[in-house]
Amino acid sequence: MKTLETDVCIVGGGPAGMLLALLLAKMNIRVHVLEKQKNFDREYRGEILQPRFLQMLEQLNLKEYVERFPHEKLKQGAFYVRDRQIGSINFQNVHRNSPYAISMPQPVLLQALYEKAAQYPSFEMSFHSSVQKVIMEDGTVKGVTVKSGDEELDIRAKITVGADGRFSTLRRLMNFAFEYEQYNMDLIWFTIEHPEHWERMLRFQISNGPTCIMGSKYGNRLQVGIAFKREEWETIKQQGIEAFKETIVRIHPYFKEFAGSLTDFKPFTPLQSKLFMVKQWAKDGCILIGDAAHCATPIGAVGVSLSCATAVIAADVIVKAFQENDFSTEMLNQVQTMREPEIRKIHAFQKKIENVMVDSPFLRKMRPIAITLLAKTPLFAKIQKRMLLMPTPLPIHPQLSFE
Ligand SMILES: Cc1cc2nc3c(=O)[nH]c(=O)nc-3n(C[C@H](O)[C@H](O)[C@H](O)COP(=O)(O)OP(=O)(O)OC[C@H]3O[C@@H](n4cnc5c(N)ncnc54)[C@H](O)[C@@H]3O)c2cc1C
Repeated sequence: MKTLETDVCIVGGGPAGMLLALLLAKMNIRVHVLEKQKNFDREYRGEILQPRFLQMLEQLNLKEYVERFPHEKLKQGAFYVRDRQIGSINFQNVHRNSPYAISMPQPVLLQALYEKAAQYPSFEMSFHSSVQKVIMEDGTVKGVTVKSGDEELDIRAKITVGADGRFSTLRRLMNFAFEYEQYNMDLIWFTIEHPEHWERMLRFQISNGPTCIMGSKYGNRLQVGIAFKREEWETIKQQGIEAFKETIVRIHPYFKEFAGSLTDFKPFTPLQSKLFMVKQWAKDGCILIGDAAHCATPIGAVGVSLSCATAVIAADVIVKAFQENDFSTEMLNQVQTMREPEIRKIHAFQKKIENVMVDSPFLRKMRPIAITLLAKTPLFAKIQKRMLLMPTPLPIHPQLSFE
């Protein structure tokens, strides 16, 4: 079997894996990314990148570079109870330097990070390469065995990073345990052509039926996500598409034409709204980052921001690990020590909000009233800031920033 040697092997070329690879390559650490897909085209994934993501890019001096790629700026958000606006987000008030969120398809973001990383000779990436086994020596991870096309090969590394997402293979192979896990809600996604008179913004639609999130998407489309309680989607599918068409039109009349064109459930992508925290993210020679270590629900659209912030901290710790030639659990655990408190807070918010979004029929009736009242309090603005902004810059060495 062929064997390749590198310094850091990153399993998974999603946002967290690609950003970590770029930062390490810049620091002259040899890095090899393994991505199981053939390219960056993938099923619909997170596209809304919040001001906290842009703050992080700014800290790394990458914001201007990333914004050269196709995207759409979203400057406002609004909360509606049926057709009445009860609250708003003005991104201009959220952050001075990044007074907007952006909508950028994930393949575009990944391509941007790839092109930048490919400028460094210490960067390597293999697509269509799926991890099968972990190479262990004396209780330490020394790399992985990967199936690359028809070929199996060993990639040996001083540090192996699991950036392979919420269903992480590395997490399973290495028996990482969860500290907590929650799955109560599904978000059912679809897109329609952007309605002409619709402002280009994010809109949260609250009713005593399903709650719905809508956002302008790059390419003149509107992305819509409808929230259902965990078991509800299966029941809806059993009831058939005709009944669901009526539900959709009841949520908003803009969906009438789309509903009329439906013959089956194919245009819908369900996202399990999972939230979990892995108890300990590192073992000797190995660390989990991003969704593999700490998965957030779609509430607040912060998944990419949280995953990438962990990747940046991981880059800082890994640079230190190479300087000190120390790849132990204790060294790599510093990533978790720095990132966990903030992620716990976001998880706690998301749990509370999710309880309001999918709850008992009685509470559903009360929801519009409760949210209208909440929107009038200062707490509402405080929650927005807590979700959308990084509380402080990431504690990293300035050497990680680009010129
Ligand atoms: C439908 C949907 C909508 C979302 N909306 C938003 C949003 O608007 N904003 C937001 O911030 N977040 C959103 N999220 C969450 C966001 O997509 C994730 O939090 C983010 O992508 C996590 O990044 P990651 O790099 O940790 O993992 P991932 O993006 O999951 O990347 C993991 C990578 O690892 C690869 N991989 C998996 N297993 C293997 C293996 N065995 N070998 C090699 N490679 C492997 C996968 O192919 C993938 O490319 C959404 C998620 C979904 C599913």
